[in-house]
Amino acid sequence: MEDLKEILQACGFSFKKQWGQNFLTDANLLRAIVADAGVDENTVALEIGAGAGALTRALSERAKRVVAYEIDRSLQPVLARTLAGCENAEVVFHDFAKENLARLESELGEYVVAANLPYYVTTPIVLRFVEEAKRCKGLTVMVQEEVAERFCAAAGTAEYGAVTAAIARRGACKITRRVPRAMFTPRPNVDSAVVRIDFTQGGFAVKSARAYRETVRCAFLSRRKTLENNLVNVFRIPREKAKEILSEAGVSEGARGETLSPVALGALSDLLAARGIVKE
Ligand code: SAM
Repeated sequence: MEDLKEILQACGFSFKKQWGQNFLTDANLLRAIVADAGVDENTVALEIGAGAGALTRALSERAKRVVAYEIDRSLQPVLARTLAGCENAEVVFHDFAKENLARLESELGEYVVAANLPYYVTTPIVLRFVEEAKRCKGLTVMVQEEVAERFCAAAGTAEYGAVTAAIARRGACKITRRVPRAMFTPRPNVDSAVVRIDFTQGGFAVKSARAYRETVRCAFLSRRKTLENNLVNVFRIPREKAKEILSEAGVSEGARGETLSPVALGALSDLLAARGIVKE
């Protein structure tokens, strides 16, 4: 492939900050991300944010099929050059946030997400797969390092939050590599990390995903308050009832929501749903 910077220049491309356009060029790093994602010749890979196509190309060299979304149509001439000869890769010029995921999944079958995500929409995109995806086997995504720490945090730490608990219900989450800002063009103000969220491992069942979401929201709403106070305020139940439920769930008195593991939050949400306090 020709030098990426030369191609961008020749196509008159200008970087758009509002779309999180920080591109990767290092071939070793790109291959490592593809390996982290567990992509092989049977894999259908979905990429969000093709950019100049560097990761798309690396995916295409390993995968059965690559479908990449890109919001910026001005990248079309760039991608025509960088993806020349990548017969198993197609680029859809469309805002991924506006895509119908159920329709896309019926077209893709089983797939993995592999992406260097636009920073301004990282969490909503990841949560969308966590909450809605039916045929996704997992996500391997480059995100800001701080966000990566939040995704994988242990209960009781400052980084642990509602997003961590949401992800943990669906699968195992780990940071596979740290990526310094100098690896991107243009260079962003933060370092990054690659996170793998594996929907085929870890995770746990709850009676109702909706009840779990409500319980998690309640647990982290006022982090300084006790879980008991949050239950009383959010679900408008008598204090005695909140005490009784927490005791039945094995939560010690005075505990704050952030000290409960995702599994413990799941057990609590099952109880709240069974008692009709949160809707299933
Ligand atoms: N994959 C490339 C790489 O690794 O070099 C580019 C990654 S860059 C961080 C993110 C890309 O996502 C940008 O090209 C940006 O235009 C695109 N993008 C931003 N918002 C998007 C959206 N809502 N839907 C699809 N693509 C989007």
